[in-house]
Amino acid sequence: MRNVILIGLSGAGKTTLGQLLAKKLHLPFLDLDHWVEEKTGLSIKRIFRGYGEDFFRQLEADALKRACATDGVVAATGGGAVLNPANVRLMRESGVVILIDRPVDAILGSIAFDDRPLLRDGGSDLRRLDGQRRVLYRESAHLTLMNDGDLDRAVNDLEAMAGAALLQEGFAVIGSPIGHTLSPPIHHAVFGALQIDEPYAALHVAKGSLPAFLAGARHSGIKGFNATIPHKQDILPLLDEIDGDANLCGAVNTVIRRNGRLRGYNTDMDGLLLALNKRGTGYRGNRLLLLGAGGAAVGIACKAAKEDASRITILSRRPEQANAIKAIAAKAGSCPVLTACLDQDTLTSLAAETDLLINATPLGMHGVAEDFPSFDFLERLPGHATVIDLIYNPACTGLLLAADRLGLQTINGLDMLIYQALLGDELFLNAPIDKDQLYPLVRDALKKEKVLEGSR
Ligand code: NAP
Repeated sequence: MRNVILIGLSGAGKTTLGQLLAKKLHLPFLDLDHWVEEKTGLSIKRIFRGYGEDFFRQLEADALKRACATDGVVAATGGGAVLNPANVRLMRESGVVILIDRPVDAILGSIAFDDRPLLRDGGSDLRRLDGQRRVLYRESAHLTLMNDGDLDRAVNDLEAMAGAALLQEGFAVIGSPIGHTLSPPIHHAVFGALQIDEPYAALHVAKGSLPAFLAGARHSGIKGFNATIPHKQDILPLLDEIDGDANLCGAVNTVIRRNGRLRGYNTDMDGLLLALNKRGTGYRGNRLLLLGAGGAAVGIACKAAKEDASRITILSRRPEQANAIKAIAAKAGSCPVLTACLDQDTLTSLAAETDLLINATPLGMHGVAEDFPSFDFLERLPGHATVIDLIYNPACTGLLLAADRLGLQTINGLDMLIYQALLGDELFLNAPIDKDQLYPLVRDALKKEKVLEGSR
């Protein structure tokens, strides 16, 4: 852990953003001007008037030294802190320095000049300071965050940027929400078993904040990361290179950083295939009934087409989505792809000619109110059919329970999750790993964490 130091013009938003960032990162917040006021019992304005700027700058340097001597603090500096080269050296050595950049006109519309000692002449003083200090700010900062006045966006961007920049090593998963992700315990179990001493963090990165995260990541020591909802598609144009499979299905879930370049991969596609192989099945020669036409469905359809499934039928409540996947899957292989509306009648009529039924919708997921209105269509499946639910929470959805009762083979989303992670670790570590040996260790680790109670 190191510090996050915010610099920028008076009124750029350093204090407001710093307080909100500290809250999000669960770090203490230090406002250097406030510290000086507390220490002297005087307002900054009175210190300037009564004792002069040099005296204030000395107090400011003391405050900065104090902040930089701690580890893991968010600090907002006064606008002139960068005037002293010793301050700049100290800040840069103690952590990540982020310039909060806000157009002067926007600042002018939002601050009270009375409290700012160097802004006696209001707007013209601020423009003069901006002219004098702009280059200094740029040279002093590791990273720049634009504050265009949309506070929510600026806080989200700052959280993503600072969170990434603080990572000095190891790996991470990014997403929103990210609180309940199973990725850290999975990767910790793998690294532990392989005696690899690398941290793996979970970072909240809001939708729209990927550019800020990537700027922070490029500055950090991060070696790679996983991307989950809602970033799997949005991240593609922001990376330096995209692997073939990820390009094909337009989704990235794993990014590695080598020689400063970020390369995106998709291990979800092979993750599910390995999960099927483990249960003695796969796509080749099988008739697939795929429910849902979102991000996961694209990868599955592409992989199934590539692996020569004998037919893929995609059911979705929005036909245009299924048709878009059909067009993408057609580039991956030559198996016929059909699309239809996701409703009970269609499910019932198609079930009899299905070998693999895959639920790639959130129906039945923990926290989702909706479920399939009936599971009667399962009775029409052939006895050899396998029912797969990508959901792993709950471990046994209503769909899998009903299929189980009919004696059908069932697979939940956990194996896909574990295998995509193991495949991701091969990329992270740039070496093959023994997935069969690691698989039970990961499952045991998840059970110990009580995240897999009742799992199949
Ligand atoms: P997504 O991009 O949001 O797509 C979800 C699909 O389900 C969309 O076609 C959506 O249609 C449809 N859908 C949503 N609610 C529905 C409802 N009430 N009735 C009918 N269709 C509905 O999500 P995703 O990333 O593809 O994920 C799909 C599922 O797979 C999720 O449960 C996710 O947790 C799971 N998953 C598991 C793994 C794993 O490793 N096990 C990996 C990835 C995903 P609309 O667009 O019309 O809403």
